[in-house]
Amino acid sequence: MKVRVRLAPSPTGTLHLGTARTALFNWLFAKKEGGTFLLRIEDTDIERSKEEYIKNIYDGLEWLGINWDESPTIQSERVNEHKQIIKTLIDKGFAYKCYASESELDEMRETQKKNGLAPKYDNRHRNLTPEQEAEFINAGREPVIRFKISNQKLISWNDLIRGKMTWSGKDLGGDMVIARRAPADLIGDPLYNLVVVADDSAMQISHVIRGEDHLANTAKQILLYEALDLNIPIFAHTPLILNSEGKKLSKRDGVTSISEFKKMGYTSEAMANYMTLLGWSVPEGINERFKISEISEIFSFKKVNKASAKFDWDKLNWLNSQVINEMSAQTLLENLDPLFKENGWYLPNQEWGLHLVTLIGPSMVLINDGINQSKPFFEEPELSNDGKKQLVIKESKVILKYILEKLENLDAALFSKDDAVGLIKDATKDCSVKKGLVMKSIRAALFGTLNGPDLIQSWVLLSRFSKDRTRISRFI
Ligand code: GLU
Repeated sequence: MKVRVRLAPSPTGTLHLGTARTALFNWLFAKKEGGTFLLRIEDTDIERSKEEYIKNIYDGLEWLGINWDESPTIQSERVNEHKQIIKTLIDKGFAYKCYASESELDEMRETQKKNGLAPKYDNRHRNLTPEQEAEFINAGREPVIRFKISNQKLISWNDLIRGKMTWSGKDLGGDMVIARRAPADLIGDPLYNLVVVADDSAMQISHVIRGEDHLANTAKQILLYEALDLNIPIFAHTPLILNSEGKKLSKRDGVTSISEFKKMGYTSEAMANYMTLLGWSVPEGINERFKISEISEIFSFKKVNKASAKFDWDKLNWLNSQVINEMSAQTLLENLDPLFKENGWYLPNQEWGLHLVTLIGPSMVLINDGINQSKPFFEEPELSNDGKKQLVIKESKVILKYILEKLENLDAALFSKDDAVGLIKDATKDCSVKKGLVMKSIRAALFGTLNGPDLIQSWVLLSRFSKDRTRISRFI
């Protein structure tokens, strides 16, 4: 079988983590099987669909390295085909016009609720006589179009992740609306389940891989495939992504869209790596840190869990720091330099930049950490409490005065590690203090705090801007 899979996002919001993970599983499966991965933009909700969201979805997928084949199908361009299919269903007796008004339907649901029943359309207009229909039309009612769902029907499929699934027709909410209200001689806007079946069939989709929140839709869609005598694709329903409290990950959890993760400083490689782990268990002997291109060779739905996946920030952070650590200084600098420029920070030269990122890289978790950690090299730092405490010590002032005098005889542009080491040694001896005190005093004066990367290297970098002298002179 030729494998053809698709991602079918609705452009009513930015690319969500769950949708991106679905995209990734589709992509991995297509790569593994030598198949085709397609995109379909489900933009039939005209009011909520936006061009900017379509762009956000394309950008997010591209950023993650999830490339698609062929040009995307735009669902709204196929509305005539959808309506034609609805007409066929009506002509064949699988669908009908339902004139029940919203208030009648509300009343029906209220009664069901009072009797402890789940809300369900009671198929009241399934068998209207032509006279009854004429009466509704004369009364100015506009119908929806409903697809018949038999209560007795059992629907089964072999899910690639969840195994054999069976749904009963009676649990699908009654005859399903497939087109919105419109004058009786027209067909209203076609709705989700109908258009998905029409499009998946037209796109010759072999496998439908999507979130488990679509299970009931799958049952309904199988009925549509059967009525239309179309090939039924194979289904795989991926587990939900939950937050740390075990609830479905939602906007309330803060960050959920791919562009936000990017903005926070996560790398595309760590994101793609982590999303694969959201539901897929790594086979024995394979490291959890991988590139998706490597995993596509071994990906299989056998290793996708049925149980929901919990979003784990610690693991994502760990992966991101791994990715940053694996980057060459050149690549890390390429990631950071645009952010430096946004802050108005310019490198004295490329080599200096490479030294800086080599120095701070090992302690970075997010790309954006590089900004905070680089800041004291470009801007006067604020004094932290521990820095303040250090600088009021009497000996600190003596040490800094000594260092400054020595620095005045040295060329800032040529200041080297050996110079820094020598100065610290001399100060320790000549001021009769401990080396630790000398180092802490210098660090506090230069960077405002007692924490940070290697002092000698940091100092040498700072001296390239001659900033070490001005900073020390503030505290003597
Ligand atoms: N537009 C639907 C969604 O975003 C697509 C579901 C499907 O894959 O059929 O949930």
